[in-house]
Amino acid sequence: MSQAPLRVHFDLAIIGGGVAGLWLANRAKNAGFSVALFEAKALGSDQTLASQGMIHGGMKYTLAGALTGASEAIAEMPRHWRACLCGEGDVNLRHTRILSDHFFMWSGDDLGSKLTGFLASKVTRGRVEPVHPDRRPPLLRHSLFAGSLYRLEDIVIDAPSLVANLAHNVEGHCFQIDWSQAQLHKNAEGVVSLSITTPEQVLEIQAQRFIFTAGKGNAELLQQLGLESPAMQLRPLQQVMVKHQHPFDFYGHCLGRETTPRLTISSHRLPDGSHVWYLGGSLAEKGAHMTPAEVIELARHELEELIPWVNLDHAEWATLPIERAEPLQPGLVRPDNAFITPAEGTANLLVGWPTKLTLAPNLANQALELLANAGITPSISHTNLHDYLAYAELAKTPWELAFPSAQSAEEALALRFREPDEDDN
Ligand SMILES: Cc1cc2nc3c(=O)[nH]c(=O)nc-3n(C[C@H](O)[C@H](O)[C@H](O)COP(=O)(O)OP(=O)(O)OC[C@H]3O[C@@H](n4cnc5c(N)ncnc54)[C@H](O)[C@@H]3O)c2cc1C
Repeated sequence: MSQAPLRVHFDLAIIGGGVAGLWLANRAKNAGFSVALFEAKALGSDQTLASQGMIHGGMKYTLAGALTGASEAIAEMPRHWRACLCGEGDVNLRHTRILSDHFFMWSGDDLGSKLTGFLASKVTRGRVEPVHPDRRPPLLRHSLFAGSLYRLEDIVIDAPSLVANLAHNVEGHCFQIDWSQAQLHKNAEGVVSLSITTPEQVLEIQAQRFIFTAGKGNAELLQQLGLESPAMQLRPLQQVMVKHQHPFDFYGHCLGRETTPRLTISSHRLPDGSHVWYLGGSLAEKGAHMTPAEVIELARHELEELIPWVNLDHAEWATLPIERAEPLQPGLVRPDNAFITPAEGTANLLVGWPTKLTLAPNLANQALELLANAGITPSISHTNLHDYLAYAELAKTPWELAFPSAQSAEEALALRFREPDEDDN
């Protein structure tokens, strides 16, 4: 190994490759900044691939009655994402799969009138419409269904394809970092830098701005620099996954008496094509403090009550305990908006949490605005660190990890298209 550290300069060094870091890397690269992103595990780990992929305009936040700051800030986001998904926005998401171009809100019979009254004003805005019984999604097309059902014109995206798309757009910019071989530093002027020991060379990474977008990892990164602010909060969930036999994809919230949906269902596929419902909402919030067996029992009970006509006797169940990482709010409530701020006591560090997948574009807008306000413009040409560091890989989804397939996706596909008489001789 060469003794003298190799100094490498970037405009921006982003730490953490979830939706926040990847979206920001896309925007920054498009704006001409030289960018390196450093990921500790795999791109999309932690919250992004664990999300339900719902890009919503905040309608569910209005369940409490009044429009809060969150619902106002988030309202524009579906339109922003749609433009990106068509290749006409500030980030090209043409290779991201849309799982659904709408999702449903339904409530049991006794809550129907409350929901109807609440949504009536939104219907006139054209974003929500009541669903006629003939047009119900297959899962709810049963004579026992006796609730009110509305359709929201918001989208659900396939998070793995989003991460792959965002990563592809910034190919050559996302590197694996092993913190047992790396260290953040802050000098007396508050200038942050990063040293990484590789087998060939010690690298010293300098940047006009370091940006921490490591989700729950932000706290530990700040700690490395002896910083406590901005402070973070963690709100735990325990999601439930059901691998089942029904060919019904469904995306929606079932509303109960609380302001959080009683149950949120999204639908996903395993590489071999089998179906998984991913259950969140109040169930996952209550489940955070239960054992996996208890939350699975609660989930079974909820499904039996809400869709009793669906037989889940042969379903396989698993849970995902996970924490939502956000900037600290008084009373640990949900933050209203994406959040990014310069870290006090440093000269070149920003720290951010999008607080929602939906709000990743908003976080990137705010970050670029902070850079512009600080007079930071693209001025350093890009260096590819691949001679020293491996490229970061894509993470697996929670359902792939929970229900590992005996077959690879290619094998499963090959079997589905097998000639009928191939095995017969
Ligand atoms: C169960 C669940 C469901 C959700 N559903 C939705 C939804 O339907 N719609 C919606 O809008 N939002 C949803 N969210 C919220 C949304 O997923 C998150 O707000 C968003 O994904 C956060 O993105 P992020 O990039 O900040 O963090 P993360 O996705 O957590 O990414 C952080 C990345 O940083 C990496 N990292 C961590 N520490 C380090 C380190 N020291 N060095 C380098 N890298 C590091 C991690 O490995 C990871 O890749 C959901 C969240 C959860 C938990």
